[in-house]
Amino acid sequence: MNEYEIRDIALAPSGRQRIEWVRHNMPLLTGLKEKYGSLPESEKPFRGVRISLSIHLEPKTAYLCETLAAAGASMSVTGCNPLSTQDDTAAALADEGMRVYAIHGEDEADYFRHIEMALEHRPHIVIDDGGDLAACLHGKRPDLAEEVRGGGEETTTGILRLRALAADGRLKYPVVAVNDARCKHLFDNRYGTGQSVWDSILRNTNLIVASKTVVVAGYGWCGRGIALRASALGASVVVTEIDPVKAIEARMDGYQVMTMYAAAPLGDIFISATGCKDVIMLEHMALMKDRVILANAGHFNVEVDVKGLEEKAERSYEARGNIMAYVLPGGKTVHVMAEGRLVNIAAADGHPAEIMDMSFAVQFLSALYIQRHHRELPKNVVDVSAEIDTLIAEHKLAAWGVEIDKLTPEQERYLSSWEL
Ligand code: NAD
Ligand code: SAH
Repeated sequence: MNEYEIRDIALAPSGRQRIEWVRHNMPLLTGLKEKYGSLPESEKPFRGVRISLSIHLEPKTAYLCETLAAAGASMSVTGCNPLSTQDDTAAALADEGMRVYAIHGEDEADYFRHIEMALEHRPHIVIDDGGDLAACLHGKRPDLAEEVRGGGEETTTGILRLRALAADGRLKYPVVAVNDARCKHLFDNRYGTGQSVWDSILRNTNLIVASKTVVVAGYGWCGRGIALRASALGASVVVTEIDPVKAIEARMDGYQVMTMYAAAPLGDIFISATGCKDVIMLEHMALMKDRVILANAGHFNVEVDVKGLEEKAERSYEARGNIMAYVLPGGKTVHVMAEGRLVNIAAADGHPAEIMDMSFAVQFLSALYIQRHHRELPKNVVDVSAEIDTLIAEHKLAAWGVEIDKLTPEQERYLSSWEL
């Protein structure tokens, strides 16, 4: 009998339908599933391998789970954010026989209980988005880390934390920095976040973006994508930064750059994507326009001061689905989307399938790399190999039917020579 803790197994047909939709738009995962799924059981690369996975539990992630399972893995699955779990997707995976522990909107206690339940599977490989599995394995349940051969980490902030753990000499297994692969952050963080943040803001507000001033805090990979798409929708874009080089880059890309204090009175929509904390605070809100909209696209819900707003507001109410209105003393209203959590994932469907296809192909091949090389890897954060990046890019281009030039032997010699 399968083990699961989900909202309702009867939701499985709806989940299956939505997984089927993304399957047709994820040719890299489909190729991997066909290649490894068609091998005899005894030759499957993850035969006898237990994998625990904590990524936003929605259809694209489900397809990654199915691909790993087709390659022989025994999967246990949980979400990485209570608001991003989609109950029908969880039901579809449970119905396929996977261990699934995740319920949309669960409280913090249940969320961490589910992380632990996923680890009770005693994984050989852990696949994390934000490092919650790793935190449990290095904190509350070190006993469950004994058999872990290695892992993959999906996002920028997760990698920062794992590097800090490794710097303290405490990381218990090698972790592949999936986010840092070129085929991940160049597309996922930039174009994925760029599109899905606006998808969420558009569908939840139903307002026009052209004519508005959008303030983007942080001009990293995510911030660049968000600013680019804001601009394409007709907004005037203002960027705030703490890194002088990134600030110059934003100026060169055509945006105004200033401090959050200076931007506060100008913006109609504010979006943070810094991975930092205390970015949009009450003192900034005091200077903002009435009915301003605040959203966060960075990892944790600490970029926008929602706690401060809750304490300071005279009253609050739901203005629309996924939008809370806070009425401050004096009568000004501040709108916060998705409780200040990742707006594109907590209040929409996250990145599009074609983007997650690349990110999850990196995850799959990194898990394979761990399985094959864990004995020789250091207990550290390791890079995705250039070969994996190139392989994924070649397959992506092939799926589009795009051909590119190849270096001739003469050109290769020319490019690698120091002589004139
Ligand atoms: P990044 O390191 O490329 O960019 C972060 C930028 O924010 C840097 O340029 C940094 O200088 C700037 N910054 C830091 N503190 C700041 C502050 N107080 N004010 C203004 N700017 C500040 O990282 P990234 O890949 O763009 O990721 C950013 C965050 O988004 C991370 O937490 C990451 O985990 C998360 N992320 C979210 C999604 C999503 O789907 N929403 C996708 C990928 C990454
Ligand atoms: N645990 C964090 C997760 C950070 S989200 C939290 O509190 O929510 C950032 C990551 O989400 C990105 O690196 C991106 O790869 C991933 N992501 C974005 N859209 C997604 C989607 N549709 N399905 C699965 N993962 C997605």
